[in-house]
Amino acid sequence: MTAPLLELDTVSSGYGAVQALREVSITVAPGEIVTLIGANGAGKSTLLMTICGDPRARNGRVVFEGRDITQMPTHQIMRLGLAQVPEGRRVFPRMSVMENLLMGAQVAGHDPAPLLDQVFALFPRLKERETQRGGTLSGGEQQMLAIGRALMSKPRLLLLDEPSLGLAPLIVRQIFAAIRDLNEKEGLTVLLVEQNANLALRLAHRGYVLVNGRITLAGPGRDLLAMPEVRDAYLGGG
Ligand code: ATP
Repeated sequence: MTAPLLELDTVSSGYGAVQALREVSITVAPGEIVTLIGANGAGKSTLLMTICGDPRARNGRVVFEGRDITQMPTHQIMRLGLAQVPEGRRVFPRMSVMENLLMGAQVAGHDPAPLLDQVFALFPRLKERETQRGGTLSGGEQQMLAIGRALMSKPRLLLLDEPSLGLAPLIVRQIFAAIRDLNEKEGLTVLLVEQNANLALRLAHRGYVLVNGRITLAGPGRDLLAMPEVRDAYLGGG
C-alpha cells in the first residue's frame, strides 16, 4: 500500500468545553478523492480546520507526507502544500477575479501564468469575468473563484468544505465535474466535506461518515451509498 498523503490518527479537537471531534482516524492516499459526510454540526468543518492547526488537535496526531504537523503553526502548515476552500467561499469582495487569483499564487510564490491558464481552462466563466469584483459574482461563480484561488497555490492536497452549499443543482454538477477533472487529469488529491452525500459519495474513491464527532462508517464511496443506514440518514431514505 502507498503511504498516505494525509493521516489523522485518533484526533480529538474542539472549542473550550465543546468536544467536536472524538478520536477521529482517517487516511487520504495520494491521488484519491476522499469524502467525509455528516449532518449539521457533526464536526466536518472542525476536521478540516484541525488539519490546518486551528483549532489544534488536543489528542492524536496529524501527519502530512510522513511529517507530524500536529503542533505546527497554521501558516507553516499552509506552506507545505495544503490549500483550504472554507465553507462560505470567502473571496475578497472588493478585489477583481484576477486579483483574487493572483493572491492565491502569491501566498505560495509560484509563477502565476501557467496556473492562471489552468484555472481558466477549468472555469471559463472566470476568464469571462476576470475584471469583475469578487463580491458581485453569483454564488456559483464565487465558489469557482474560491477553488481557483486555492489551485493557484498548486496544492498537493485540496481541502474543500461544502462546495455545494446554497448552489443550484446544475452549478453543483459543474463544480463536481471540475473536481473530478482535476483529480483524473492532474492527479490532485482531494478531501471533500459535504452534506450532499449522493453526489459527493459518487465522486469519491472512499468516504467516511461522521456522527457527533466520531467516524461511524468507512468504505468505497459507492459501497457507502448502498448502505441502508447511509441512505436513511443522508439521502432521505431514497
Ligand atoms: P455544518 O454542516 O453545519 O457546517 P459541521 O459538521 O461542519 O456542520 P462544525 O462546524 O465542525 O460542524 O461544528 C461541530 C461542533 O462544534 C458543533 O457543535 C458546533 O456548534 C461547534 N463549534 C463549531 N465552531 C465553534 C466555535 N468557534 N466555538 C464553539 N463551538 C464551535
